[in-house]
Amino acid sequence: MRLYSTKNTTNFTTLQEAVFKGLPDDNGLFMPEFIPQLSEIFIKNLKDYSFQEIGFEICKQLFKGATIPEPDIRTIIEKAITFPAPIVRLDDEKYILELFHGPSLAFKDFGARFMAQLMSYFNRGNDSELVILVATSGDTGGAVAAGFYKTPGIQVVILYPSGKVSFLQEKQLTTLGENVAAIEVEGTFDDCQALVKQAFLDKDLTSSIRLSSANSINIARLIPQSFYYFEAYKQLFLNGESVVFSVPSGNFGNLTAGLFAKRMGLPIQQFIAATNANNVVPSYLDSGVYTPLSSVPTLSNAMDVGNPSNFARMMDLYCSTWNTIQKDIKGYSFTDTETETVMRKVFDRYGYLIDPHGAVGYLALSEYQKTNFRTKGIVLETAHPSKFLPDVERILNKKIEVPERLATLSGRQKHTVKMSAQFDQFKDWLLRLY
Ligand SMILES: *Cc1c(COP(=O)(O)O)cnc(C)c1O
Repeated sequence: MRLYSTKNTTNFTTLQEAVFKGLPDDNGLFMPEFIPQLSEIFIKNLKDYSFQEIGFEICKQLFKGATIPEPDIRTIIEKAITFPAPIVRLDDEKYILELFHGPSLAFKDFGARFMAQLMSYFNRGNDSELVILVATSGDTGGAVAAGFYKTPGIQVVILYPSGKVSFLQEKQLTTLGENVAAIEVEGTFDDCQALVKQAFLDKDLTSSIRLSSANSINIARLIPQSFYYFEAYKQLFLNGESVVFSVPSGNFGNLTAGLFAKRMGLPIQQFIAATNANNVVPSYLDSGVYTPLSSVPTLSNAMDVGNPSNFARMMDLYCSTWNTIQKDIKGYSFTDTETETVMRKVFDRYGYLIDPHGAVGYLALSEYQKTNFRTKGIVLETAHPSKFLPDVERILNKKIEVPERLATLSGRQKHTVKMSAQFDQFKDWLLRLY
C-alpha cells in the first residue's frame, strides 16, 4: 500500500510513514493509491463473516505491499475491534446503526483504537518509547486516551483547556493513568494546539524524544470506519439490494469512509450528508460552490465544523467533479428546533432514544424518503444519548439511564498536571519525563 497527498498525487509515502506523520508536508491529506474492489462473492456471503473478519478481508486487500504479514493484520484488528456495531430496526425503511458501544461511547473509538494498534505495531522493536501529543477540546481526546490506554511502547500526553470541557469529558481524559498523562492548560483549546505545534518544531525535543500526533485526519482513523458499513449491510440480510446511508457529519471522516466502502463494492445507492446549521457541504452539493465559514454552536456540537477537513478527500475521490459527487451524496441541514422535535418524535413513535447527532441523520433520511419511496435507509448513530445527558433529559423530559462504563467514571479520581500556556514549562516537563 502506498499513499499520496491530495496536494501532490505523484509523491508516494508508505503506510508506516503516513500513520506516524498524520499529515503530509504539503498540508494535504494522505489518500490510498488504490481502493481495492472486493469480490462479489465476498459481498454476497457477508453473513458468513464476523465484524472482525470483515475488517481483516478489507485490510488484507488494502494493505497489499505494506509488508504487514496477514497474522499481524488479524491481531491488529482483533485488538482494535472489540465491541459490536448492531443494527436496530425502527421500521421497514429505517434502521439505526449503533456505533457507540466502545469505551468513550462514540464512533471515534473505532478510529482511535485502530490507529493505536497500527502505531504500536509499527513502533515494535524500538527501544525508545513513542510519545503521542494530543490537543483536545473535549470529545476526541476521550476516544484517543481510551484507544491508546495500556498500548505497549506508547505514552500519550493529552492537553486540554482547564474548565472548558464537560465534567464527564474531563473524567474520560484524566482518570485512566498508566501511559495516559493529562495536562490541564490554563488557556483555550487554541493554546493547547499551539503548544503541540511548537513541540514538533523544537529541536531539543525532537532530537531527544520520538514525538507523534494523533489528529483526526490520520488515515489510520478512517480505514476501520469503512468496516462498519459492511457490518451494517450484512445485518439487513439483503440479496444484493442497495441501501442508503445517512451520516451525521462534521469533519466528514465518517462519510468519506463510507465512500471508501462504496468504492470497495458495497451496494450503496445513496449517501446522505446530514448536518446541523453548519451546512457548507450541503450548500456545496446544491450549488457547486464551496464556501468555508466560521462554525456556529449547535446542540449537535461534535458536528460544529465550518471547514470540514475531509472535504479535500471527498474532492479527490470524485476528481472535483460536482455533477458526479452530487449524484452520490445528497445534503440536508437542520436547525436545533427541528432536531429537538424529532428526538421526541422518534421516542414517541419507536420508543428509541436517539442522541442529537443521530437525530440530524434521522431527519435527513426522513426528508430524503419523502421523495424516494421504498428505499432502505440506515442512520449512523454516532454517540450514546447519555453523553449529552442534560440536553437529552431536558428535551425528552425524562430521566435516562447512563451506561455502567460512563457512570463509574464520575466517582474516579482526576489526575492532571496543571500548566500555563507557556511553552517552556511544557517543554521542561516533557524533557524531564521522557
Ligand atoms: C465526531 C462526531 C461526528 C462527526 O463526524 P465526522 O467524521 O467528523 O463527520 C458526529 N457525531 C459525533 C457524536 C461525533 O463525535
